[in-house]
Amino acid sequence: MHQLTLAEIARGLADKSFSAEELTRALLQRIHQLDPQLNSFISVTDDLAIAQAQAADARRAAGETGALLGAPIAHKDLFCTLDVRTSCGSKMLDSFKAPYDATVVARLAAAGTVTLGKTNMDEFAMGSANESSHYGAVKNPWNLEHVPGGSSGGSAAAVAARLLPAATGTDTGGSIRQPAALTSLTGLKPTYGRVSRWGMIAYASSLDQGGPMARTAEDCALLLQGMAGFDPKDSTSIDEPVPDYSASLNGSLQGLRIGLPKEYFGAGLDPRIADLVQASVKELEKLGAVIKEISLPNMQHAIPAYYVIAPAEASSNLSRFDGVRFGYRCENPKDLTDLYKRSRGEGFGSEVQRRIMVGTYALSAGYYDAYYLKAQKIRRLIKNDFMAAFEGVDVILGPTTPNLAWKIGAKNADPVAAYLEDVYTITANLAGLPGLSMPAGFVDGLPVGVQLLAPYFQEGRLLNVAHQYQQVTDWHTRAPNGF
Ligand code: GLN
Repeated sequence: MHQLTLAEIARGLADKSFSAEELTRALLQRIHQLDPQLNSFISVTDDLAIAQAQAADARRAAGETGALLGAPIAHKDLFCTLDVRTSCGSKMLDSFKAPYDATVVARLAAAGTVTLGKTNMDEFAMGSANESSHYGAVKNPWNLEHVPGGSSGGSAAAVAARLLPAATGTDTGGSIRQPAALTSLTGLKPTYGRVSRWGMIAYASSLDQGGPMARTAEDCALLLQGMAGFDPKDSTSIDEPVPDYSASLNGSLQGLRIGLPKEYFGAGLDPRIADLVQASVKELEKLGAVIKEISLPNMQHAIPAYYVIAPAEASSNLSRFDGVRFGYRCENPKDLTDLYKRSRGEGFGSEVQRRIMVGTYALSAGYYDAYYLKAQKIRRLIKNDFMAAFEGVDVILGPTTPNLAWKIGAKNADPVAAYLEDVYTITANLAGLPGLSMPAGFVDGLPVGVQLLAPYFQEGRLLNVAHQYQQVTDWHTRAPNGF
């Protein structure tokens, strides 16, 4: 049963091949048996899952239908879940049980999903390797010595290892698409404002966006359908109707104009990844797509701009963790200043502290104009590049990552080396555009992803292209050895 996709599960539940409870029990057993090798879960919520599965079975017996009714999923551990630990991968929130459900969690639960647990992640979603978690590194099921990507590395590893069919993730600079690429999944970062951020613990509020991670585009469509939509509780949520994403999957790609940015194929890209990306382009051409070379001239400024803006927003967002209101508090503080200092010093890990320092510096009087304001201007230039490019093409295609999944620990000595891995993904966050990564092959047994970007609110177009590609390729169906 663990090989089934969400779409196959929906059919199996509808024709009563199995019940949601049977499926849930089987997957929970698999998680307990196999996850010790991967460390992809921070919390496994057995009791909640069984109760939700029984409720889904009862709703179905009463005549209710729905693709997500009884669908097993997990949430990245930064989506608040009522009365369940929501740690954000941090010692700071190790004992924090959320007093409410995030909108995404509540919407998916109302649609009938079954929450198997909360997945491991980089601390406060800062990272590209899932090595900065307080709960330890996550292993890549394709090779246990390698990272699964991050920050949604737990969701990625769990879905790739067939512990469950789909999970939520969040993407501030690539954290859905990059781990999807490194574990051979399909992952979608929606348009900024498409999915509510209410109850999603903030890293960089102007960049963060939740989205689905699954093995197929078809499953991403199902999960996104349950996540997307206007939320009056999130002031940046956009009041646009949500299309039927599953209905968009089958459009023809005849005449689809695909732009290949020349900056995406320059120095720094592993040539073996470049070859697989070109092979995916050939497949799409066979399906009728027309290829054009384009240019995104300001792309080279994206990493420096992002690594000013994201830490600046993080330093502000994380000021609420003061040892008084949330989570960790140091022992026997001498006075209030000591309480703040030691609670934050002991509760946050080193990468989070580094970002808070960088962000505080960039926002301080005298430096604000030189760094933060400048970065915001670059952000606008990057957006303008995309707007110009989308006048001539329908989607933009390139590699998701410049390199394969690296060995655990290999980049620990040099944080900037890890920052450079985000080169192809962060531009979509800076511009607020939707982006998708899909499996496109393997090099030395490690997965490679291809990224597609589209204009605002064209998630359906991305899912359509990926689904059509997945009708003529089988990369997304391959399972790692031992799983
Ligand atoms: N790797 C990027 C960072 O560390 C992106 C993380 C994310 O998207 N949450 O900031």
